[in-house]
Amino acid sequence: MAGHGKVSSVLDCLQGALEIARLFRASGYVLDKSEMKRLLAELVGSISEAKMELSILQGNVEDKDAELIRLNEVLTYRGNMRRRGDAYYRTLDGKPYGQPYCSYCWEKDSQQYHLHNRILSKEVRVCPHCKNEFQAARTPYFEADKLAV
Ligand SMILES: [Zn+2]
Repeated sequence: MAGHGKVSSVLDCLQGALEIARLFRASGYVLDKSEMKRLLAELVGSISEAKMELSILQGNVEDKDAELIRLNEVLTYRGNMRRRGDAYYRTLDGKPYGQPYCSYCWEKDSQQYHLHNRILSKEVRVCPHCKNEFQAARTPYFEADKLAV
């Protein structure tokens, strides 16, 4: 449904409603009943369509808001994320700590996904999003306390 949920599609619907109002005026407000019914049905249709387009548009705006919030978080973390081995970590005083994040998802889409241990395997970690696998030895967990020593 390309073209839906855009300001232009809302304006098109309202333009349609306006055209109908102009037809009323052009008729000198004298129309037979069936013509009146037809135009009113068209008017209601245009308004309903405009409402639908506006609700799609609102959804689009909310999606964009959520993306802006996420990108703002990414900017905040970008300077603090550091690669170590095959993963990315948050840093404390420039040193990586905590759970490893998927390097593929971070580098490609700036998305932070913690790697999970694969079930029944201590050797392999897997990204829940892209499903890439990593050697656990190259994506260790860093205790933050040890940094303080
Ligand atoms: Zn990933």
